[in-house]
Amino acid sequence: MKSKESALVLFSGGQDSTTCLFWAIKEFESVRTLCFTYGQRHSKEVEIARNIAHQANVPFQMLDASIISQLSVNSLTDVNVVMDSEKPEDNYPNTFVPGRNLLFLTFAAVIARSHGIRHIVTGVSEADYSGYPDCRDTFIMSANTSINLAMDEHFQIHTPLMWRDKTAVWELADELGVFALIRDKTLTCYNGIIADGCGECPSCRLRKQGLDNYLKIKNHT
Ligand code: ZN
Repeated sequence: MKSKESALVLFSGGQDSTTCLFWAIKEFESVRTLCFTYGQRHSKEVEIARNIAHQANVPFQMLDASIISQLSVNSLTDVNVVMDSEKPEDNYPNTFVPGRNLLFLTFAAVIARSHGIRHIVTGVSEADYSGYPDCRDTFIMSANTSINLAMDEHFQIHTPLMWRDKTAVWELADELGVFALIRDKTLTCYNGIIADGCGECPSCRLRKQGLDNYLKIKNHT
């Protein structure tokens, strides 16, 4: 049954957060989106996110979080850093932005609070990723507790994709009736190419692998 409450979705216009947006629209009475800018390689991302929110008929808020790009060197925010195409054996890929999700969740909670919202939705996942520590379930539970203690609130952080690999994320999009929208309108590619993307970057390869798998399963059922 649909909750009578409201939710704030951390939203970037990519496959995962767009799937989360439509999941939240199904689960909650009202939904808002929050999009962070932090000197990503492609500011086009923000326009894509804005368009999807507009199409979904939900409020879109942008927050300048560019302080993040001043804190550390990584290939997502610094064009001079060549992006790792594979995960190095002994480290995280240099697409890892240390502290990002902790900061984002904290900012999101403050904004949610100002709107009287206690449900926060984020598209992080432990499955099929580079193993970023701030995408793990234990981190989210811990952040949820800390944020509640910090503000004496009862926020609930929802992670509908936590245990879904990319194949299962496509499956969820299909169940939610937004498979085509997510395939055609979202931007996941590190090289800034919408929909199926460049096909070469780690993000495109993951997305395509999941899509191919899902279509294979779907066509056999
Ligand atoms: Zn790509």
